[in-house]
Amino acid sequence: MNPDLNKLAKERYTWHNATNNVRVTPLRFFYPTDEFDIAEIVKDAEQQSLKVRAVGSGHSFSEVAVCKDYLLSMKKMDSVEKTDAGLLKEACKHKHLVTLGAGTILMELNKKLDKMGLALPNMGAVDFQTVSGALLTGTHGTGINQPAFPDMVRSIHMVGTGGKMYQIEPDDGITDPVRHTDKHGDSIELIQDDRDFYSAVLGFGGMGIVYKVTMEVKPAFWMKESREIVKWSALREQLLSGEFMDMVEHTDFVAFRVNPYEVKGDHTCALVKQHIIPEDEQPRGWGARRRNILSTFFGDIEYLIESTIRRINRNPKKVRNSIEQALKFTRDREFTGKSFKVLFQSGISVVRHGISSEFAFEARAEKIVEVLERIFVLAKRNAENGNLYQASHIPVRFVQPSRAYLSSAYNRKTVYIDVPLLHKTVGDFEILERYQEMMIELDGIPHWGKVNNKLYERNDFIKSKFCRHAAWTERRNLLDPKGTFLNDFIIKMGLA
Ligand SMILES: Cc1cc2nc3c(=O)[nH]c(=O)nc-3n(C[C@H](O)[C@H](O)[C@H](O)COP(=O)(O)OP(=O)(O)OC[C@H]3O[C@@H](n4cnc5c(N)ncnc54)[C@H](O)[C@@H]3O)c2cc1C
Repeated sequence: MNPDLNKLAKERYTWHNATNNVRVTPLRFFYPTDEFDIAEIVKDAEQQSLKVRAVGSGHSFSEVAVCKDYLLSMKKMDSVEKTDAGLLKEACKHKHLVTLGAGTILMELNKKLDKMGLALPNMGAVDFQTVSGALLTGTHGTGINQPAFPDMVRSIHMVGTGGKMYQIEPDDGITDPVRHTDKHGDSIELIQDDRDFYSAVLGFGGMGIVYKVTMEVKPAFWMKESREIVKWSALREQLLSGEFMDMVEHTDFVAFRVNPYEVKGDHTCALVKQHIIPEDEQPRGWGARRRNILSTFFGDIEYLIESTIRRINRNPKKVRNSIEQALKFTRDREFTGKSFKVLFQSGISVVRHGISSEFAFEARAEKIVEVLERIFVLAKRNAENGNLYQASHIPVRFVQPSRAYLSSAYNRKTVYIDVPLLHKTVGDFEILERYQEMMIELDGIPHWGKVNNKLYERNDFIKSKFCRHAAWTERRNLLDPKGTFLNDFIIKMGLA
């Protein structure tokens, strides 16, 4: 290995993801500080026919990040700045564009954007991911007319094969090619091509190491949230009458959570509605109301989760009532806050203990009812036949159509149905496998970052569900002809 790279590297280091269900000891674990370090690492790897991959916060439960050769932590590459307007096309100068170091953690990003008077249009339920990690697996939040991460991005800056630097944008990209060449000469190749952009933007790092990302954000905004408790029988009726989907269309952000277990003859749901507050009505100073203190408090204390895991393992039958209580705790008449505080929907404790499989379906009411009722049946069967219980409610979220070729929301309004549980409760992975089988049978498309090992056996299914998979593979092979950025995950998914 190039001895100059030693100062950036650790050897005999075992990396693991946040939940510790995925581990790998690569040949070297690097902490690059800029794109030039990355370029040297890539060149060194290619001279020895080794592979290179990067990790973000390690919040994917799948093997998507794993690499046995050179693995890069992006954590030293965190920066947030306004995009250089001098390089933009005239027509794009009015946009709110920020250029972010790939390793920027979303929590920090949100704070810095807020200071700049800006905000992400949407985010997932937590803010512990890195910018590049959230992007490259297609992290989504909720809101049927709101974008997931790949659809907020306008430009990807990447180190590719040979240590070459690329800036990749869609056909109608934001960058003026003449201005780009004036500034960068041929040191950074500008590619403006839909096929490359919509492949790389949700490409698990399979085309190169992303070092910066340009995102389109919004002026900072406030939101109002309410959480009400409803029974599944009533919500089901609203779904089938069309009333519910109409409300989803006309509300900025909607999600609901269901107890998979029946209690007193029905399933309890918590319905979360979030509205963007118009600019002239935004509260100032102390205008914000805190979220229900009980739900925030319990979600942040790891010890309580750990003792819950022990309690569930000792007394699994109590799970149905624990979920019932937890849903009721989240009831909140009104919570007003800055957008990123309202969009954050979870507690810190889920990072090490939560694990899930999540599936995307066409956002149709009948489909939602069908899938949820199959979940209820399976949860009951696991309990009755095996005394196996899943320790969480089922979240249901909505996302706008995506243009990213490997997005599970590609080209259609999508509902995501998640099956989270607590890692290390008895039967955790077996329960998730049964759900994967059932959801695949119902035409659900698994999230790339969640537990999705059943797809390894179903390359035919991937090909039938991702209609742009061949274009993705073609662009990956063109951008990475030596296979430097490939890993077993991409191969096992049949995408190499
Ligand atoms: C508690 C919890 C809650 C979650 N909630 C949601 C949610 O609400 N919605 C949702 O959609 N998902 C959710 N997820 C899943 C999570 O958002 C994704 O798995 C996301 O990819 C994790 O980001 P990360 O920074 O940890 O990336 P990692 O998991 O570390 O990496 C993800 C992928 O990106 C690649 N990668 C990362 N950085 C780079 C880079 N700079 N260059 C090249 N490749 C790179 C890695 O190789 C890997 O393939 C949640 C996960 C957890 C643990």
